[in-house]
Amino acid sequence: MTGALTAQQAQAQKEFRAFADSHITPHADTYHRAQRTPPQIIRLLADEGLLGLSVAEEYGGGGCDAVTLGLLAGELGRACSSLRSLLTVHTMVAHAIARWGSPSQKGTWLPLLARGERIGALAVSEPGVGSDASAVTTRLARDGDHWVVDGHKKWTTYGESADLFLVVGRSAEGPTALLVERDTPGLRTELIEDMIGIRASMTAHVHFDDCRVPAGNVLARPGLGVSHVVGAALDLGRYTVAWGCVGILDASLEASVDYATTREQFGSLIKEHQLVRSMISNMYTDAHAARLLCLEAGRLRDERHPGALAATSTAKYFAATAAGRAAADAVQIHGANGCSSDYPVQRLLGDSRVMEIIEGSAQLHQVGLAEYAFQERGPRSER
Ligand SMILES: Cc1cc2nc3c(=O)[nH]c(=O)nc-3n(C[C@H](O)[C@H](O)[C@H](O)COP(=O)(O)OP(=O)(O)OC[C@H]3O[C@@H](n4cnc5c(N)ncnc54)[C@H](O)[C@@H]3O)c2cc1C
Repeated sequence: MTGALTAQQAQAQKEFRAFADSHITPHADTYHRAQRTPPQIIRLLADEGLLGLSVAEEYGGGGCDAVTLGLLAGELGRACSSLRSLLTVHTMVAHAIARWGSPSQKGTWLPLLARGERIGALAVSEPGVGSDASAVTTRLARDGDHWVVDGHKKWTTYGESADLFLVVGRSAEGPTALLVERDTPGLRTELIEDMIGIRASMTAHVHFDDCRVPAGNVLARPGLGVSHVVGAALDLGRYTVAWGCVGILDASLEASVDYATTREQFGSLIKEHQLVRSMISNMYTDAHAARLLCLEAGRLRDERHPGALAATSTAKYFAATAAGRAAADAVQIHGANGCSSDYPVQRLLGDSRVMEIIEGSAQLHQVGLAEYAFQERGPRSER
């Protein structure tokens, strides 16, 4: 698989893995149990330049290509899906600003996000609004040179600790995206505990009570919040989540191989039992297939190819569902031990469930992918 990467990308991946192996993997289960990621590890990711890796160099970021960003998401996903989700939402916010921000918004926010001096979070979902983001109800009312924000966002990843929220609310013009700083009077967050997965991701409710936000904080134009701003952010989010799922596949496979080569039942290592080998061969195949789909999506993104959108959705759908299968089989191979918190596969299983819901549920991707298939085949009369 390394041959599919440039020498620079392969070297970057090696460094990401070494970083994750020494600073994250040994602590991932502790974060999971504590339902928190300590600020020190977030600071370390920032100091290593990893949170700003995809921000353009002119704003102090690493200016990396899409494949390299994917490799980073993959290595973080292999170590800790909560921290991978931090990379995802933070880069989504930076990407939305880079794509739709004014020169002054870019100049203000991108250097801070690139250095990780501000952590970004995306606040779109609400208690009654999920897959259909265009139905957001958070109210945005214009008052002179401010917008007044009132509403309740839910499921905001790293909402409990983020500094800058990309919020989508409803103005007279329709869904509208604007940047809201954490210290805005009237903004309050509340941690959501006991989630099934990405339990350390500081996911939160975000309440806005008469928050006054400068009019200059709107991204793009009022009315374009979902179609343009969230659209751009979600496309990148899907890409890094897909790679994060490759990480879950890798971690599930490694844990299963290790366990099957040490656990004995019926007088032999369980790796000798064919049904165990069948689960491992499925994981192995899925991990390779998911990685190749992600690499293809990354290359097409780097080429600004029109097929990148469909390739990203294909990669996300396949990798997320494959990660679900792999993590479930990894628990199965571990037997009772897989049900305990003594082994990481229990965490991987919970994390994998979330992957089929976020950044477009599996069903939403299926609906869209079928549409791509019909479009690619074209009308019958033109075949
Ligand atoms: C851990 C976690 C972190 C999250 N982080 C964020 C975040 O940072 N920011 C944010 O804004 N949101 C976040 N979310 C919310 C996430 O974006 C939503 O969960 C997602 O959009 C799905 O919405 P929903 O959960 O309300 O499900 P619903 O939209 O209510 O869907 C419920 C079920 O119906 C199915 N369904 C819905 N519509 C269709 C359709 N047209 N065709 C077929 N099936 C359909 C879905 O696939 C699903 O199975 C997070 C969620 C979780 C669990």
